[in-house]
Amino acid sequence: MDLKDQVVLVTGGARGIGRAIAENFAKRGAHLVIADISLSSAEETAREISAAGVRTLAVGLDVSKSNDVAAAFEKIMKDFGRIDVVINNAGITKDGLILRMKEEDWDAVISINLKGVFLCSKEAVKLMVKQRYGRIVNIASVVAFMGNPGQANYSASKAGIVGLTKTIAKEYASRGVTVNAVAPGFIATAMTDALPDNIRQEMLKSIPVGTFGTVDDVANAVAFLASPDNGYITGQVIHVNGGMYM
Ligand code: NAP
Repeated sequence: MDLKDQVVLVTGGARGIGRAIAENFAKRGAHLVIADISLSSAEETAREISAAGVRTLAVGLDVSKSNDVAAAFEKIMKDFGRIDVVINNAGITKDGLILRMKEEDWDAVISINLKGVFLCSKEAVKLMVKQRYGRIVNIASVVAFMGNPGQANYSASKAGIVGLTKTIAKEYASRGVTVNAVAPGFIATAMTDALPDNIRQEMLKSIPVGTFGTVDDVANAVAFLASPDNGYITGQVIHVNGGMYM
């Protein structure tokens, strides 16, 4: 999984799983674009990652806004002249049982988690087709396959990502562009730390491996799919969930 000198964009790259992916890729020699809703957080992460001796660029964007996304890709092309890998990782939750779920909470989650992947992939594919090379890896979730009470918006957005992944994979396979997804299970991050302890303990019982996943478990699977060596894997979902869903 040599990613030396690859130019890699990670959305939501300032913290959590996105940051771990960026750090993992930097260790493998990739140059990183850290794109996040908070420019100052992206800048801080980019600065810290550049200590690994790779080039970094911080971009502030809201993945659900087409103007932001177009401007970010323009900046990347100006700075690096190409883009080899795009990791669509930015995502949010706004949980609630469907009877209590507000329409704006549905819209916000679908907009950032699903439309964001559409907008970033569209810009990426435009450039990758010209390069005749590209890797897109989308971060889905185990709940896309299992459902989860209280997460109608989130699980629908993640299931949407799976369909989107397979469709873009079919559309551009012949142009050297692969599109895959990683579906994490329960990974220890700020997003999951916010859950009440009784729910965390309940979830642990459903994981055959017996522990929560780490951000590195996800990052290693993403690096595998993003590697130039893996041109014959496309339209696939790798499940990183400790056996929680098989
Ligand atoms: P996280 O810690 O909340 O990190 C998400 C990052 O995305 C944050 O830096 C956040 O910025 C940024 N972001 C939010 N909205 C954005 C937007 N509109 N445009 C650009 N950036 C935005 O989440 P995480 O746990 O690392 O999750 C990362 C991905 O993995 C998500 O897609 C999530 O659904 C998926 N996932 C996570 C788990 C898990 O167990 N943690 C399991 C399955 C799937 P702010 O912090 O400033 O809002």
